[in-house]
Amino acid sequence: MPDTLFISDLHLAPERPRIVEQFFRFVSSAARGADALYVLGDLFEYWVGDDDLDDPLNDSVAQGFAELAANGTAVFFMHGNRDLLVGAEFAARSRGRLLDDPALIDLYGKPTLLMHGDTLCTDDLEYQKFRAYAHNPQNQARFLALPIAARHAELSALRQKSESAKQDKTAEIMDVNIAAVEQALRSAGYPRLIHGHTHRPGRHVHRVDGRECERWVLGDWYDNGSYLRCSAGGFTSMEL
Ligand code: MN
Repeated sequence: MPDTLFISDLHLAPERPRIVEQFFRFVSSAARGADALYVLGDLFEYWVGDDDLDDPLNDSVAQGFAELAANGTAVFFMHGNRDLLVGAEFAARSRGRLLDDPALIDLYGKPTLLMHGDTLCTDDLEYQKFRAYAHNPQNQARFLALPIAARHAELSALRQKSESAKQDKTAEIMDVNIAAVEQALRSAGYPRLIHGHTHRPGRHVHRVDGRECERWVLGDWYDNGSYLRCSAGGFTSMEL
């Protein structure tokens, strides 16, 4: 049966070789033959800019997707909060396409809304403030004008800051806000929703304005890789 696969939050980085290896096994075996593969953000632990594409890991990841695409699987990328500067050059080398967040697709006849998921975490005011800063084009231009080494250093400092800030936040603050989920579903016409970011994989049912909507949350690749497989018959959560 034709199928479409969804992954997110791989957080690929040179210091995580086991997950990097799982990624290559995934694109060369489990994902082979799929109609499409959607990467819903945080593919990379960090991304300093497409001019760092010749870094061995970055280049090999792009080649992995390109081989999958050459084999007939359509590849789509959505930005996460870690890799929001992934650009057209990465997409081209990967033979994939960049998607807006949110993106509404037709999945085997059923409208489905795709998001990274960070915009749904509206209770985390500190993060939303940072997100607005990071998405500001002037701030992005300033960052991208720095030498590559300085960008690596800046993102590394930022990651440490974010890790220590997380210690002080409750699980509720870092999860999605249900009103934000309902608003996303409402504004897109009550489709099905698939997102990542929260690292809390599962299936949820929301009743929005009397309409029943389904929300699938993708898992991260911290301990083990996983993906969501969708066919006309429904969804299956798969472990690697
Ligand atoms: Mn994220």
